[in-house]
Amino acid sequence: MLHDIDTGKAGPFGEAMEEAVRNCVHCGFCLAVCPTYAELGQELDTPRGRIVLMKEVLEGGLEIEEALPHLDACLGCLACESACPSGVNYRNLISPFRALAEDQCSRPLGEKVRRRLVSWVLPHPDRFRTAARMAGLIKPLAGVLPRSMRSMMDLLPSPLPVEQKLQERYEAQGEHRATVALLAGCAQQVVDPDINAATIDVLTRSGVEVLVPRDQTCCGALSWHVGDHRAAREFARRNIEAFPEVDAVITNAAGCGSGMHEYPLILRGTEDEERAAELAARVVDVSVFLEQLGGPGEIPDRGEEVTIAYHDACHLSNGQGVRSEPRRLLGRIPGVKVVELRGAHLCCGSAGTYNIDQPEVAASLGEQKARAIMESGARVVASGNIGCLTQVKMHLGKLDVSIRVRHTVQVLRDAMDGI
Ligand code: SF4
Ligand code: SF4
Repeated sequence: MLHDIDTGKAGPFGEAMEEAVRNCVHCGFCLAVCPTYAELGQELDTPRGRIVLMKEVLEGGLEIEEALPHLDACLGCLACESACPSGVNYRNLISPFRALAEDQCSRPLGEKVRRRLVSWVLPHPDRFRTAARMAGLIKPLAGVLPRSMRSMMDLLPSPLPVEQKLQERYEAQGEHRATVALLAGCAQQVVDPDINAATIDVLTRSGVEVLVPRDQTCCGALSWHVGDHRAAREFARRNIEAFPEVDAVITNAAGCGSGMHEYPLILRGTEDEERAAELAARVVDVSVFLEQLGGPGEIPDRGEEVTIAYHDACHLSNGQGVRSEPRRLLGRIPGVKVVELRGAHLCCGSAGTYNIDQPEVAASLGEQKARAIMESGARVVASGNIGCLTQVKMHLGKLDVSIRVRHTVQVLRDAMDGI
């Protein structure tokens, strides 16, 4: 697309944003896969429309506030990137643009306070645990609360799982095959700490020593995707210091893995850019790592047939190009048949804080995903992202359907235990 963007004015992300705009040829191939276009039906809520809006703001011909409602409505699911024949790197445009916008735009006070509060609470497990407990106490008042708060409360498990403190090191069982470091995540530790327990269990039983660096922090993805690039940089820097030289840095939440792969962009133009690239190159989703290892340890045959639906978390499939590995891993379990979901490419509406920011669209997408899971005939649905798991669980619950919702590593761990 022809443009008149002055990259010098757009700061360290200017060239990345300019390249994304330039590569868009306006063909519209991305429209068919964009969930917000399907929901809202407007050109300005398509990837192509958003690229034009961002271009016009960057050129100085449009006020940020005019573009913002359409950019806020973007899930950041990156389905458009996967579908784009011109290789438009949409993530290199939307997140840097949001960072720029948050510095320059004026938002209503209530919205500002809500965004600040979410950024202050969610990336910190202790703060989030306290907030979740308080939310549990005021749940009976949910009916009089704003929809965004009700959506958030609906996502919280009741009762909240007991906190599980992680050790700094877990020994490999049997022959030592690798040493990895685990990103423990933030919200996931509070909402479903069993995911980390299952990850460590499957890895150690597969001959992998697991380190959990004490000084690690939130990956920073949440801050990055809401435009708080200062916080995202700080998180990225602290993780660069915290993670040791190991065979791989393991993530088990798609959003975190995708976020850590973006560290070189987040730290672009700083002295830490090179180290960010080194760390990002070692980050790998647990499903990919286990497949590279040749599969997990032994899985007994229970002599039972089980149908499992696999839900692609956008930040695994579109964000990291991970599609086949989790399916292959699940398929290694004797008796398991993995089935595909109708509309598998569509985001479930979780997308970080999207449930809070855009509750109507999030609810519609969540219900559609739950119905597709119901139709699949599966007894279990597996996915690789805590946000998707909580969203899908909530919407299956609303439809009164009892299908087990599990992280891929939880399914594997249970199968290794013969459960
Ligand atoms: S598919 Fe790619 S090139 Fe075509 S309009 Fe969408 S972003 Fe632009
Ligand atoms: S990231 Fe997702 S919601 Fe946003 S424009 Fe691309 S396809 Fe649409």
